[in-house]
Amino acid sequence: MERFDNNGVTSIKGSVGVHGVNMNVYMYLTDGVLIDTGSESLLSEYIPFFQAGDYDQVILTHSHEDHTGGARWIQENRQVPLYIHPMAIDECRADGVYPDYRKELWGERKAFKAEPLPMTFHSRTSKWQAIHTPGHAEDHLVFLNQESGTLFSGDLFVAPKLRIVMEQESIAKHIDSLKKVLTYDFEEIYCSHAGYIPNGKQLLKKKLDQIVSTQEEIMELHSQGLSSEEINQQLFPREYPLAVISGGEWDSRHIIRSVIADNE
Ligand SMILES: [Zn+2]
Repeated sequence: MERFDNNGVTSIKGSVGVHGVNMNVYMYLTDGVLIDTGSESLLSEYIPFFQAGDYDQVILTHSHEDHTGGARWIQENRQVPLYIHPMAIDECRADGVYPDYRKELWGERKAFKAEPLPMTFHSRTSKWQAIHTPGHAEDHLVFLNQESGTLFSGDLFVAPKLRIVMEQESIAKHIDSLKKVLTYDFEEIYCSHAGYIPNGKQLLKKKLDQIVSTQEEIMELHSQGLSSEEINQQLFPREYPLAVISGGEWDSRHIIRSVIADNE
């Protein structure tokens, strides 16, 4: 676990590696708010921070196990509420159910009781807005601190290019969510997997442009009669380690399928 402090935000970075796939996951603490709780596989490293951290509420960007893995420990050991999008509350009330490779990476997300996060809320000194941003996950939220103009972007950014997504992701919703977020006033972002990005808004804009042009390329190749597999070979020729270890739960093919389905 590594810790950095800048502009009133503490970043906690955890790293996991399984079968040649290495991933970082971040949580953030600012103005008495803990944003996400990392993964259960890193819990023993996090506990001293969870114990001593100066926070009076926890807000969760979405229910995936790399964001909610510490929630149960906090619930049992700290008297603070945990908030999430209302649609994720029932799922969080039970232990997480997901494939083994995710358990190897992120551990076993234990049940916890979350409360519905209002779309506007306060930290000690700031007013915040939660922005519903489905695409990666239906329950996905990003958080804007309206005083500092800082955006905590969960899994909305992650990487400058979208090359691989999970099976149930919607490319049309990704696009709508990026457009929605870009209407707000902010510059820097704190991403759950890429960390602090000073020119985050600019990179989100680039990502939107890239997804839109990929969408156009897919539809162009589709209209020329290429199969999904041929389109995949042409646009995403690389084999991604995460696609391999996930047995296809993560795959570039899901991008093509989603785009074609949205346009038919
Ligand atoms: Zn996620």
